[in-house]
Amino acid sequence: MIERIQLAHLPTPIEHLSNLTRILKGPDLYVKRDDLTGLGLGGNKTRKLEYLTGDALAQDSETLISAGAIQSNHCRQVAAAAAKLGLACILVLTGKKPHHAEGNLLLDRLSGAEVVFVPEQSQRDAKMAQVFEKTKKAGLNPYLIPYGGSNAVGALAYANAMHELKQQGCEPDWIVFATSSGGTQAGLVLGAHQTDFHGKVLGISIDQPAEEFFPVVERLVIEASALTGEYNAPPTNSILINSDYCTAGYGVLQPAEVEAIHLFASREGILLDPVYTGRAAAGLIDLIRKGFFRPSEKVLFWHTGGAPALFAEPYQGALQT
Ligand SMILES: *Cc1c(COP(=O)(O)O)cnc(C)c1O
Repeated sequence: MIERIQLAHLPTPIEHLSNLTRILKGPDLYVKRDDLTGLGLGGNKTRKLEYLTGDALAQDSETLISAGAIQSNHCRQVAAAAAKLGLACILVLTGKKPHHAEGNLLLDRLSGAEVVFVPEQSQRDAKMAQVFEKTKKAGLNPYLIPYGGSNAVGALAYANAMHELKQQGCEPDWIVFATSSGGTQAGLVLGAHQTDFHGKVLGISIDQPAEEFFPVVERLVIEASALTGEYNAPPTNSILINSDYCTAGYGVLQPAEVEAIHLFASREGILLDPVYTGRAAAGLIDLIRKGFFRPSEKVLFWHTGGAPALFAEPYQGALQT
């Protein structure tokens, strides 16, 4: 059993998006505000970190090590969790060290994380292993948090989030959200199975074609359900991935994402992010316009956070009006 450490403000609120429902003339739209989980400006990784840091502390770890992109929301939340729990934090970020820290990177620094840069993604895992060994030799018992916090332990958090949704009395026909390293989706799929959820859980892929990404989520679902001791894993046909909106590549802002960010901000006062939720919302808007949902249906957009990246180049430049 994983001892969970309380880090997030839960339950996160659910809001009706009455303006967007009217403007888009589509299904009844709601949002689940996991951008408000609180820790170091929050996001979906905070839920996973409740379980991952629980595991780390159970192993007497003193240092959290993780990796991601320079504007990684995940790494920002790892840094904040380490700060709160009195642990050291080392982040391996892919890309060229910027002249000054903006957005998530600025927040990593404020939380006191040590940041190591690697120029290419292909060098990241080797660098992480090197940092891990060095920390271990220094006697600072490191704990490796996987990319995006997506392993079976992290995924348990989103299974739990489906129980939270049920307790809030929310029963949408669809849950739509941004999916990338797969832990959020695997957890939601597992939780949907555990709670006899009647609706569908649809991930909008941020960076991978559905054929490549499906086995990643499938494996996480199987491993996470094994961890709960349930023999009865969810059926694989409950893993729904739409990868029609990721062709521009990771973090490449397109007019559709810019429109989605402007619509949510100007009509609902809700800030999406340029990489994940902007893209997922752009997909949702396109699906609504294509008549994918029935007007009588209820659609919940699960907001996974990320707004600090709005304040970093190149995004802040692209979003000027
Ligand atoms: C990490 C992240 C996601 C994707 O979640 P995964 O569990 O990695 O699939 C979505 N939105 C935001 C804002 C994120 O930071």
